[in-house]
Amino acid sequence: HEAKQGNRGLLVFEAAMERHVEHGLTLLSDLRRAADQHEFFLLYQPKLRLSDGHCDAAEVLIRWRHPQRGIVPPDRFIPFAEQTGAIKAITLWVLQHALNQLASWQQLGWQLSLNINVSTRDLGQPDFPALVDNALRRAGVAAASLCLEVTESAIMDDPAQALRCLQALNEMGVRLSIDDFGTGYSSLAYLKKLPVQELKIDRSFVSGLDRDEADVTIVRSTIDLAHHMGLAVVAEGIETEAVSQRLRSFGCDQAQGYLYSRPLPAMEFIAWLKQHRFPAGSGIGAKPDGR
Ligand code: C2E
Ligand code: MG
Ligand code: MG
Ligand code: MG
Repeated sequence: HEAKQGNRGLLVFEAAMERHVEHGLTLLSDLRRAADQHEFFLLYQPKLRLSDGHCDAAEVLIRWRHPQRGIVPPDRFIPFAEQTGAIKAITLWVLQHALNQLASWQQLGWQLSLNINVSTRDLGQPDFPALVDNALRRAGVAAASLCLEVTESAIMDDPAQALRCLQALNEMGVRLSIDDFGTGYSSLAYLKKLPVQELKIDRSFVSGLDRDEADVTIVRSTIDLAHHMGLAVVAEGIETEAVSQRLRSFGCDQAQGYLYSRPLPAMEFIAWLKQHRFPAGSGIGAKPDGR
């Protein structure tokens, strides 16, 4: 009887594995098709200066419009794309599309820069800096208008290789940001060596700032630490005015979150900018041609 139970357990397990593998395989062939058939699209989330609300940058966030599954968020397919290597093509697609979009915005007079997320696998590729350089040239965008976001865990996966890659990007003039700061296991001694200009405090520490004293301590010390290291600090995931005000009082430089705007399609992002970037009469960020 026991053996039978055990067998059934195994069968159930095998069936589940099969479904898992099957699911994985469809997802993989789906991913391969997605870039060719324009199933990916990009959203832009405003990144503002906390002191006055001025916005001169946005973070690029990918979405997948799957013919059967509907809109698939990145957390559902990026990890899988990393495992299978499909991430390489996705990153290139994102770079090229976002930089082309940026080029056309800049041609219209918008002085903007973009933050783009890159993965562990991207950093592990020796030719990644060359691919970025190529994408910048093709789009005709200056390296300084691009900031690449890298997580701590992506860096710590292969610290020596990551350092080489980041140094090459830095020498090209691309800006670098550490994303989701505080959630990884990187040592401060190691971070000190990295040629980065920006640190993004993870949403998990930001959202409780108006009520959790531990989060207050963590965020304040992170801001101080970053400033002592000469880095700009961005807080992500700001949803309330109370959190925004606390961050401002702690000296945080920049902010992103639903309080200001959700990630938006390109057209809506520009519409948002027109409404929010120039508080009436302030002249802040006025377009060069005064439009
Ligand atoms: P991330 O880079 O840390 O991006 C921030 C995430 O927080 C985004 O989720 C954004 O939509 C969400 N968010 C922004 N403000 C708020 C807020 O006020 N409240 C809440 N609850 N959420 C907020 P999203 O777009 O689902 O992206 C998730 C992650 O997927 C990103 O985390 C990033 O690691 C990855 N990702 C997104 N786009 C790309 C991409 O083009 N390439 C790669 N490699 N990874 C990407
Ligand atoms: Mg990011
Ligand atoms: Mg983040
Ligand atoms: Mg994240």
